[in-house]
Amino acid sequence: MTNALANLIDADLSEKRRDLSRQELRDLYRVDGAAERKQAARQGLWIAGLVYLLFSITDLILIPDVAAYTIAARFAVGVVMLTLIELLFRYDARIEWLDGTCAVGLIIGYAGWLYPAMMTQQIQTFSYYMVFGAIFMMGANLFFSFRFRLSVISSGIVLATFFLALHFFPASGTYRLVFGTFYISCFTFTSYVNWKLNVERYNVFLNALEARNQHKEATERGKALLRLSRTDPLTGLENRRAVDERLRDYWSDWQLLGSSFVAILIDVDFFKKFNDCYGHQEGDRCLVQVADALSATIKKHNASIGRYGGEEFIVLARMERKEQVALLAEAIRRTVENLAIVHEQRRDGMSIVTVSIGAAFTRSQTGPKLEKIIHEADRALYLAKASGRNCVRLFDPSDPQSSDESENIAALLKIAINQDLVSMVYQPIQNVDTGRLEAVEALMRLRMLDGTSVPPSLFIPVAERTGAILELGRWAIRTVCHELILDNHVSLVSVNVSPIQLRTPGFATSVAAILTETGVTGNRLAFEITEGLEMEMHSDILRCISDLKLLGIRIWLDDFGTGFAGLSWLRLIDFDTVKIDRSFLHDCRSSRGRAMLKDIIGLIRNRGHKILVEGVETEEQLLLMREFGIDKIQGYHIGRPAPADSFQTNPSAYKRPVRVLRSA
Ligand code: C2E
Ligand code: CA
Ligand code: CA
Repeated sequence: MTNALANLIDADLSEKRRDLSRQELRDLYRVDGAAERKQAARQGLWIAGLVYLLFSITDLILIPDVAAYTIAARFAVGVVMLTLIELLFRYDARIEWLDGTCAVGLIIGYAGWLYPAMMTQQIQTFSYYMVFGAIFMMGANLFFSFRFRLSVISSGIVLATFFLALHFFPASGTYRLVFGTFYISCFTFTSYVNWKLNVERYNVFLNALEARNQHKEATERGKALLRLSRTDPLTGLENRRAVDERLRDYWSDWQLLGSSFVAILIDVDFFKKFNDCYGHQEGDRCLVQVADALSATIKKHNASIGRYGGEEFIVLARMERKEQVALLAEAIRRTVENLAIVHEQRRDGMSIVTVSIGAAFTRSQTGPKLEKIIHEADRALYLAKASGRNCVRLFDPSDPQSSDESENIAALLKIAINQDLVSMVYQPIQNVDTGRLEAVEALMRLRMLDGTSVPPSLFIPVAERTGAILELGRWAIRTVCHELILDNHVSLVSVNVSPIQLRTPGFATSVAAILTETGVTGNRLAFEITEGLEMEMHSDILRCISDLKLLGIRIWLDDFGTGFAGLSWLRLIDFDTVKIDRSFLHDCRSSRGRAMLKDIIGLIRNRGHKILVEGVETEEQLLLMREFGIDKIQGYHIGRPAPADSFQTNPSAYKRPVRVLRSA
């Protein structure tokens, strides 16, 4: 892993690193540190200029007869050259120009002084004074940091000027030999030292360049590592770690500056199925495609995106208003839908990949914890899935499913059985033909500690989400066996079973254990199943159902017509009875609704299932059911859910509608 990482980083860096040619190096050397060198040249010329002017004193002492001229020359040269260097410096001229000016200053300084000085009558003194000319040569080679060529040329000109002057100077042969040799040696040595200095300077530059490069490489390597540690290798998006950091930033901005933001969780629908069907490579490709499309979409909204888990993405965006949130979330949903990635294995009528989206917007009640907003987005996502997927849900604090209340319910469910807060009630199911009580449906009830009852529409989804349904479900079956079946008051009890239970390994075994423990036979029980949230038809669900059937338990399909997968479930499972949701009966007031119910009845009957219609609330509805030849009915008109003892003491109470029927 670390090797692979190192290779990746190397590849990343080698793109940027390229060996420089000699010429490029020289060019780089020329511009390297130019600003400091310019400053140094300027300072050097000022020091040299001042010393040059100070030498006016020696002029006065040694050659007083021409001192006025030499001093005038010194000042003229000094002022001109210093003005020039200041101008060049001010207008940011290239270093070559500044160095050149210094070199010219040296030559003119020497020649400018030499010429009037040679007019002196103090021949003897001047012949000694001539030795100071060597200082100009040393200046060119050693004092300034000229490049070798410039220093040789300038000191060479100084040397030539000296020899020219020597030519016209009335001096002895010995003098010429001594001074000539001295000047030439001085020129040679200082030029040599200059050459050495330049080589040294260049080496220092190379070393510094190398050190700089190494430093840069190390920083880039560090950056690349950091980038990799924050990137999801599959999609190239930020990974969960990076997203969490970003979330913290958004959160503190919200807390400190009040800049609101939204957290949007995006979950690919039926992705497990997609993987199972098309293979993991295709699955990966699908995720990459979705990730790319999402990145493109959110760019316009100045948002950030990351991969939050297997098939889950997260988008964070600063937003002012809640309406913008809905627009962005919807845009995201549509983007994925428009990709039209084929997914034929989902059984909800769609054949392309879609996403479910849950979003949560900062609100003043969000509280001091940043996990809260993710938690809220997660709740909203859960609701989006529960609403049939491929849709957007915004966290709504007033929705009991999302509110803190469900938190309380979750806590309550944990203690419900031990504290005797759950109970079962039973609603009669009537055989339409005989008018007899054919079965009862067992319905769960939950009380809070203060006695207020919590409706199943509230606590069942929470129990399913938290997994509490598993224990409650076993408890319900055991209670049903004890309360009703053992006393033989009712021949058949239908129990609602959630798909979560069916999906859990060992469920059928635990049912078998309860039957053995209570001495009840399976044919006294029916399990009502709904497509529910986890409507993906897992093979484990099918296996569980066939195991339950082996125990003699009948399987009923509940709430037919309200879910998405109803028809495909009918194809896959041989249900004993199908319960038609009460909404169809209630729609019968219109002729269209009536026709619809008739069609549904025809369809189910053709498949050979028995039919139960729920929600019979009036006499007319009951008569209609008779007319339609329905097998079983259930509803407030037949009987409301009641505790077990009302069946034990007076089961005939539920025969009232039967009498009505007979008299009809
Ligand atoms: P469901 O299985 O469709 O149960 C029927 C619901 O309709 C019950 O509501 C019942 O009281 C109500 N109902 C019965 N007759 C009529 C009628 O004539 N008119 C009207 N308007 N409603 C009628 P309840 O008891 O509130 O249960 C709601 C849902 O909670 C149930 O719907 C079922 O899905 C779930 N549930 C209840 N008990 C359990 C359980 O033990 N386990 C599981 N997994 N789910 C349960
Ligand atoms: Ca039911
Ligand atoms: Ca039902």
